[in-house]
Amino acid sequence: MPTKKVINILCYNETPSSLETFEYLKIKLPKLGYMVAETFDYNAELIISIGGDGSFLRALHKHNLPDIPIVGINTGNLGFFSETTPKGIDDFLEKYITGDYFIEEIHPVKAKICTKNKCIETEGINEIVVKANKSRTIHLSISVNDHLIQNFSGDGILIASSIGSTAYNYSAGGSIVDPSLEVLQITPLAPINSNAYRSFTSSVILPSNTIIKVNPEYRYEDSILLVNDGTEHYHTGITEISFKLSDRKIKLLRLKDFNFWTRVISKFL
Ligand code: NAP
Repeated sequence: MPTKKVINILCYNETPSSLETFEYLKIKLPKLGYMVAETFDYNAELIISIGGDGSFLRALHKHNLPDIPIVGINTGNLGFFSETTPKGIDDFLEKYITGDYFIEEIHPVKAKICTKNKCIETEGINEIVVKANKSRTIHLSISVNDHLIQNFSGDGILIASSIGSTAYNYSAGGSIVDPSLEVLQITPLAPINSNAYRSFTSSVILPSNTIIKVNPEYRYEDSILLVNDGTEHYHTGITEISFKLSDRKIKLLRLKDFNFWTRVISKFL
């Protein structure tokens, strides 16, 4: 039976605006009948993340991508995930209490990373990036549902979720995807196209049930860098990485008037 009326407030930056917002909520929420969890409560009904998108991603990863609705209060730079700002807190809380919101469920990208001896799994909300260690050219065979689609050579590739399409994916020339479409996007990072190597220069968009397999061809050292949502992991001796959409659901709290394309226009144009 979930504990009712407990809220986790997570604040992973120490800007004056974030700290003030944290203090404000700690006083305001109990007056509205909520308990602020002292340590992270997995039975809480809501997570409030204070900061920008970086803090939002860290908040989710630090607590193993919990199955609790999360809302962001933007005190950071871009705040693409955020629903409100410090000025809008009272208005947000009023709407939260009256149920004037909906939950958008999104699926992270999941990678299974195998060496000769073992496999481990990791997940990225925005994306998982595959790069060569030490900035050298990386050579990867990329298969989609066991059909080889290309032998990629370049800086690397990233596999983005729909919600991550506006992040690194967009900077790398990938497409912005409406999150109501559940897809995986493979986006090349500085693909080489010459008489020596041929790679796709655009991103490739695939249905939600696709399995992407990446097999590295080692020419220098057998070390690969994987980056999930900005966090680096170095691996040695990888034989195969397979990617798919995770079954796990991240629950983003959206106010009733949320519109994805209005958000895109306000943040990017
Ligand atoms: P970071 O400084 O936390 O984030 C870099 C920028 O990406 C920030 O402005 C951040 O917004 C924004 N961002 C994050 N998720 C987004 C999303 N879904 N849609 C639109 N913008 C988004 O960088 P980090 O710690 O290295 O990595 C966190 C994320 O940043 C990664 O998942 C990756 O997608 C992105 N990133 C982008 C680039 C690039 O564009 N060249 C390079 C590395 C990483 P806030 O300002 O609100 O934090």
